[in-house]
Amino acid sequence: MASERQIHVGDVPVGGGAPVVVQTMTKTETANLQATMSQIDQVAKAGADLVRVAVPREQDVRALPEIIARSPIPVIADIHFNHTLAIKAIEAGAHCVRINPGNIGGEEKVAQVVEAAKRCETPLRVGVNSGSLPKHLRQLEFDDPVEALVTAAVETVELMERLDFRNFKVSMKSTSVPNTIASNRMLSAKIPYPLHLGVTEAGTKWSGSLKSAVGLGTLLADGIGDTIRVSLSTFHAEEEVKVAWEILKALKLRAKGPVLIACPTCGRLQFDMDSVVAEVERRLAAYEDPIEVSVLGCAVNGIGEARHADFGITGAKDMGMIYSKGEPLKKVPTDRLVDELFAEIDRYYEAGRKVQRDERAAQEARAWLAENEDASAMTPEKLAALEAEAANDAVAEQVLESMLSPAPPLDEELSPVAGRRFTRNQMAER
Ligand code: SF4
Repeated sequence: MASERQIHVGDVPVGGGAPVVVQTMTKTETANLQATMSQIDQVAKAGADLVRVAVPREQDVRALPEIIARSPIPVIADIHFNHTLAIKAIEAGAHCVRINPGNIGGEEKVAQVVEAAKRCETPLRVGVNSGSLPKHLRQLEFDDPVEALVTAAVETVELMERLDFRNFKVSMKSTSVPNTIASNRMLSAKIPYPLHLGVTEAGTKWSGSLKSAVGLGTLLADGIGDTIRVSLSTFHAEEEVKVAWEILKALKLRAKGPVLIACPTCGRLQFDMDSVVAEVERRLAAYEDPIEVSVLGCAVNGIGEARHADFGITGAKDMGMIYSKGEPLKKVPTDRLVDELFAEIDRYYEAGRKVQRDERAAQEARAWLAENEDASAMTPEKLAALEAEAANDAVAEQVLESMLSPAPPLDEELSPVAGRRFTRNQMAER
């Protein structure tokens, strides 16, 4: 269930039906202004809406005002254990402060942070982590980790409400994907506040992306989650942003830049499609419009599978074709496919987003497609022909086999050799 309430982190709305917000966290020493600003610029360029910085020390909180002033996107201060740093981060102008009330040193200290947040109108992110649940939930965590996480989160929300504070979002972090899904489903039905989603310590770029896609994707597909962070074990925080965007784009929750569709290739492929896809992806990075571009390794099933693509190419050994919305545009030599594809895309934009068709070129392409498509598609007619061919092949194979195999000895009763002038072996030797 989508959250009912909305908060604003800087100028970014979170929850209450706002687009799902992409955030990440810098990996640099926050007090190292040059390194931190460089990473913030990179994640903003990659599409982060919000950025979080770790604030474990005094020098980090001292660096905050300049970071906030220079950052192109709102900055969240991430604080554990130290309520004084949280209050200082709020006073330094952080657009949001993340605390886990369970590890900040008791309700009295949480209340002081909340008081500062109210005074400065700073939203908080309040969270619970599976690794640091309150003592009274330890046994429940052992028996039912999902129930324990949700109970801790609800208790945190109740504490915020007792303190008459509602300018917050909530996060529950678990390293387990099933627990992340189950706990967020349960919590979203219980509270109206925005939810921050993430699979904590998800892993390397490969496994972490998959875990996040499964965990966050499942929840987002259910309409749960208002802001996401993909956690990857890489210094390059922009990679987290790119993965987060791919998840949102795959679910069509947000659009950003072109969408590239490419077939997985198979034994029918007759050209170097890996290089073509890499080049198409590289060149598409320069476009901001969410056009869909498809690359098919062959025309085995026609181009119907890519009929939704704004533009696409399909190749064969020497010649390929460019198409738009399932309609051929022109055929071109395979080594010119990418250049011609982008020439067509540019023509489309120059004409005010109108596909430019040359009927003669399109006709040639259609003829080429007719020759090349369905070459091995399994129509009922082709299946019947293949079965007949296979049957013929089987007969031919039997004949060949019988010619090559040694003849079985003749039955002595049918053709006796006893009393005659030969033996069977002698005959075979003649
Ligand atoms: S489009 Fe052609 S090459 Fe690509 S996977 Fe399908 S059959 Fe194979």
